[in-house]
Amino acid sequence: MSQDNLIKLECSVCHRTTHHTYRNKKKVKSRLEIKKYCRWCKKHTLHKETK
Ligand SMILES: [Zn+2]
Repeated sequence: MSQDNLIKLECSVCHRTTHHTYRNKKKVKSRLEIKKYCRWCKKHTLHKETK
């Protein structure tokens, strides 16, 4: 029933998976790129969807 999929967000600087989020595949077709706080880099970095 749910169309939301759990995805991982990887920091583009240190390449660690730092966040998890849900994405609605019907609404978002492109890869996510979000600025989020990375606790390893200790700053806001660009995070990208990974699998
Ligand atoms: Zn990082």
